[in-house]
Amino acid sequence: MNVRTDSIFKQNYDVIIVGGGPAGSTAAQFSAKSGAKVLLLERDPVLGSPVRCGEGVSERGIKGYISLKGPWIANKLNSLELFSPDNSKIELTANLIGYILDRSIFDKVLGEKAEIAGASIVTKADVKGLLKNNGHLDGVLVQYEEKEYEVRGKIIIGADGVESRVGRWHGIKTMTKMNNMESGIQINATNINIKRDVCQFYFGHEVAPGGYLWVFPKSDNQANIGLAVSGNYSRQKPAKDYLMDFMNKRFPHAEWSTMVAGGIPCNPPLKQLTKSNLLLAGDAGHQVNPLTGAGIANAIQAGRLAGETAGNALKSGGSLEQNLKIYEKKWRRSRGRFHKSATRLKNAVHGFDDDKLNELSRMLIKIPKNDWSMLRIFLFAVRKNPELIIDCIKLFKKF
Ligand SMILES: Cc1cc2nc3c(=O)[nH]c(=O)nc-3n(C[C@H](O)[C@H](O)[C@H](O)COP(=O)(O)OP(=O)(O)OC[C@H]3O[C@@H](n4cnc5c(N)ncnc54)[C@H](O)[C@@H]3O)c2cc1C
Repeated sequence: MNVRTDSIFKQNYDVIIVGGGPAGSTAAQFSAKSGAKVLLLERDPVLGSPVRCGEGVSERGIKGYISLKGPWIANKLNSLELFSPDNSKIELTANLIGYILDRSIFDKVLGEKAEIAGASIVTKADVKGLLKNNGHLDGVLVQYEEKEYEVRGKIIIGADGVESRVGRWHGIKTMTKMNNMESGIQINATNINIKRDVCQFYFGHEVAPGGYLWVFPKSDNQANIGLAVSGNYSRQKPAKDYLMDFMNKRFPHAEWSTMVAGGIPCNPPLKQLTKSNLLLAGDAGHQVNPLTGAGIANAIQAGRLAGETAGNALKSGGSLEQNLKIYEKKWRRSRGRFHKSATRLKNAVHGFDDDKLNELSRMLIKIPKNDWSMLRIFLFAVRKNPELIIDCIKLFKKF
């Protein structure tokens, strides 16, 4: 224990954040900017490692939070290819679709932004439980270098990712149905031949049942290749076996050194995102886009809202519990309906057999390569009214 860390643990905080991923660091940045005294605790030795993520993100998702130029951007994508089970290909092009991040740098930079805003960050700090005083949550129990410390705080933000325990410790129901917990697995493959500005998605029961497989290029011969499989299927055949089958078939000469795996909660967000003086943000609150499994942008947005709400709640006086509920209200107002309909759409699409997916692809293939407007209309209509999917199929049959 060095002197600095010892003195950090002895202080009382306005906001203690558990977890230094995108949700936690952004919550730390914005609560500190609101004037709160903030401590962020991360159990890993450095923010951003190990990377358990495809690192794909849309421009809209990160714009305004971090510069779009910098070493945290590993690659820019201009087009995407969708492969149906019968291997027909739909190509979509646009000026810029998105980015592949280098999260080992991206997460660190988000942490630095939090520190610049005034937050303290301690890594290798594993939060083991919550502290209560007369039933009132007033801090966390931290293990640091094999010793335990009690650190006091007025507001706790659980940003501890998909395996979150903070919510459960405080009595929030965090269980996910098996079919909604996707099993994600990924390698960073080299010695492959790909186009560096094109990301690829593969669908079908042989490749990734109840999910999809992605190829996110980092260069002409390197890519994050991974897949997510619905929990309903991963029991019958592990996600790893699906990935190996694909690699042997598509990239037989590929090389990789590590394989990472993790759960992706693809369901509507938790029914309860706040309880007394506790907030949950990011994967801990199940705020992932249920249709795509993408959670980086959502984690950042939820982290910002949680951090700002916490800072404002302390300043505005009155009941802290009531003030913190604003976080949940605002989040549900802006994202709640999207998440519900995206979950319904995901369940509908995942229910498609390969014939139906091929049929859908035959319709979509007729959209001109660069006519995003048509695709946007389709996605918009289905997102707003998932039951319209059949109508959309009928509509596209007419092309
Ligand atoms: C294989 C895979 C591929 C993915 N690909 C993409 C993708 O391409 N694009 C995308 O947008 N999303 C992707 N995701 C999802 C994305 O990784 C998450 O949604 C995102 O990281 C959520 O951010 P977060 O801050 O909520 O949680 P995390 O990034 O998981 O951060 C949580 C942090 O909390 C720490 N922590 C946990 N418990 C404790 C504790 N008790 N004490 C202290 N610290 C603790 C963890 O060490 C971790 O650093 C993928 C997920 C997987 C599994």
